[in-house]
Amino acid sequence: MKSKSVAIIGAGIGGLSAAIHLAKKNLHVTVFEKNPHPGGRVDWIEREGHHFDTGPTLMVMRKIYDAEFEALGTPIQELLDLQQVDPTYKLVFDDGSQLALTSNMEFLKEQLEAIEPGAFRGFEGYHEEGKRHYHLAMDRLVNREFRRFSDFFSLSNLPLLFQVKPLVRHYANMSAYFAHPQLKAAFSFQDVYMGLSPFDAPATFSLMPYTELEHGVWYPKGGMYSVVEALMTIARSVGVEFAFDTTVEQIRVNGRFTTGLALEHNQSIQPDIVLANADLPYVYQDLLPDDKLANRLMHKKYSCSVMSFFWGVDKVYDELGPHTLFLANDYRENFESIVKQLDLPANPSLYIHAPTRLDPRMAPTGQDTLIAIVPVGHLSERNDQDWEKITDQARYHVFKRLTQLGINDLEAHLKFETSFTPLSWNKRYNLVKGSTHGLSHNLTQLAYFRPANRHPRYHNLYFVGASTHPGTGMPTAMISGRLVAQRIIDELEAFE
Ligand SMILES: Cc1cc2nc3c(=O)[nH]c(=O)nc-3n(C[C@H](O)[C@H](O)[C@H](O)COP(=O)(O)OP(=O)(O)OC[C@H]3O[C@@H](n4cnc5c(N)ncnc54)[C@H](O)[C@@H]3O)c2cc1C
Repeated sequence: MKSKSVAIIGAGIGGLSAAIHLAKKNLHVTVFEKNPHPGGRVDWIEREGHHFDTGPTLMVMRKIYDAEFEALGTPIQELLDLQQVDPTYKLVFDDGSQLALTSNMEFLKEQLEAIEPGAFRGFEGYHEEGKRHYHLAMDRLVNREFRRFSDFFSLSNLPLLFQVKPLVRHYANMSAYFAHPQLKAAFSFQDVYMGLSPFDAPATFSLMPYTELEHGVWYPKGGMYSVVEALMTIARSVGVEFAFDTTVEQIRVNGRFTTGLALEHNQSIQPDIVLANADLPYVYQDLLPDDKLANRLMHKKYSCSVMSFFWGVDKVYDELGPHTLFLANDYRENFESIVKQLDLPANPSLYIHAPTRLDPRMAPTGQDTLIAIVPVGHLSERNDQDWEKITDQARYHVFKRLTQLGINDLEAHLKFETSFTPLSWNKRYNLVKGSTHGLSHNLTQLAYFRPANRHPRYHNLYFVGASTHPGTGMPTAMISGRLVAQRIIDELEAFE
């Protein structure tokens, strides 16, 4: 196995995690990345002393990070200085009322009871259900692969149909625990991280608010990109090689095998194994020969996208905590217009991140770094999407929402703005339809039904990352890397 070579297309979190696992097994691993630096969606920009994490801003599912770094051979705390963020979010509703989501149960109880008498008891039941869903989903659906039909459709998996409620809609399920719409929204908005509407998502996803409150939301000093730097430190120490600014243009195939990669500038290589970390539908569409699988993938459901604003500000807005979420009353309409009409909602829910609350080095002293994220429909073939106009509308909504916190002068204090639209996500990382979370996570695109970690025809072509198994998110991409590396090792050993 020592002499076998693996070429990885893309240095996203999944690609880095797989590269380390494979190099530790003595394979010769080279990662080809089109961008000048690693991380993929976990990216950053720096301008006039302001540091912006342009992708993830929330370190959730801490226990998975711990386990995955352990599996890579280095405890997470040796590489990252992590702090817990509590309250996790400040929620602001349309009527101006606020709710601080917190792991401090006394404080949470006081706030929930003020919104709906008796709601804390409902919360305890919901949290308990979230705990059950989290553990079952992790053990039985996420932390394992489904290589064969029988791995999933087995008698032992049958009880899952009732235990993790995959057939019950998440929002409908909330009624068993809360009556007030603000509370239903407060404990289901996290579905948007999966690119899903709680009106369509399986109730299984109550695991998200559970893990946020039980295991905490965390922040690495230096920002989310520190996670990429930590993975790079390990990757280099185990001998992974990198070629940045190198776009893979084609995966060559012959019969049931890949025979090589065509790189830009007429270069080519012939690795024994190809592992694609680039977005899976893009790989089918752009790197592999045309076939009906690519076409079928285009008709699958894709997660939503986001408009992001990165603002350098010449004063500090103390009214904003590290994570502020404005939740619209027309909650259902919000998701309908994002997921079904592929549009910007008339009154969008939106999120603002102020990283200097967690690490003052994120802006020059006395100034602020603000990131505003407004969920929006992904790129559409049927809608006429004018992104300049949508950018202006989204910015207007952010400014308007901020007035609820007494912030009326942001526009006057902006030093500069950088903004991303779904077109940016597509261009920067080759994300099909500009979907920030790749293929959606609805019932028919999860577990066995999600594209597997190996190509169904080409035996030496594997996949890792958000649009393959198990799905989106930084910790999930690390799991994906570990699972696919194990599969490659198993299959190489079987051939020897
Ligand atoms: C705005 C936003 C917010 C998010 N928020 C969170 C959050 O708070 N918490 C969280 O856990 N997750 C969050 N996510 C999701 C998380 O970032 C992703 O699920 C995860 O990083 C995906 O990793 P991946 O392994 O799929 O690789 P990707 O990040 O998709 O990386 C793939 C790499 O392949 C490269 N590539 C593509 N095509 C080629 C080619 N032809 N040749 C060479 N290289 C190529 C790309 O440049 C890229 O570097 C967010 C994502 C976005 C976009």
